[in-house]
Amino acid sequence: MHYRLHREGIIWWFIHRFFMKSPVFALTLFSHIFLPSWFFEEEGDEIEKQALLRHEIEHVRQWQRDRLSFIVGYLFSAEKRRIYELEGFRVQILFLLTNGRKISVDEWAYSISDYSILSFISVDEARSIISQWIEADG
Ligand SMILES: [Zn+2]
Repeated sequence: MHYRLHREGIIWWFIHRFFMKSPVFALTLFSHIFLPSWFFEEEGDEIEKQALLRHEIEHVRQWQRDRLSFIVGYLFSAEKRRIYELEGFRVQILFLLTNGRKISVDEWAYSISDYSILSFISVDEARSIISQWIEADG
């Protein structure tokens, strides 16, 4: 998988300023992954960093697989965006679990549902889907 990492910058600031409610998430444009400063700091939690990175790499994979239909789908179809984002969050959450982290289903459900103005899922739906991932993962 070919991708490039970038520290947050002007593009990051612009998108967060105008489109996002939460400042904690990363952003992927094509094969470029923009990550918050804490990602690059040594004292940060390595498991959290890797989990976040894997979520974003999933979007690179989606872009490389679906190309134009990824972009159009992500931006203009709530249904497609939901599929793409849930794939990312599934990878991220299962990575945390696999590495021994405890997951608060309620916190994740809330944070996913409040993700951005591109909102794609309700808290209740998110809670139920996350619970299914955890159960299926054993
Ligand atoms: Zn995502």
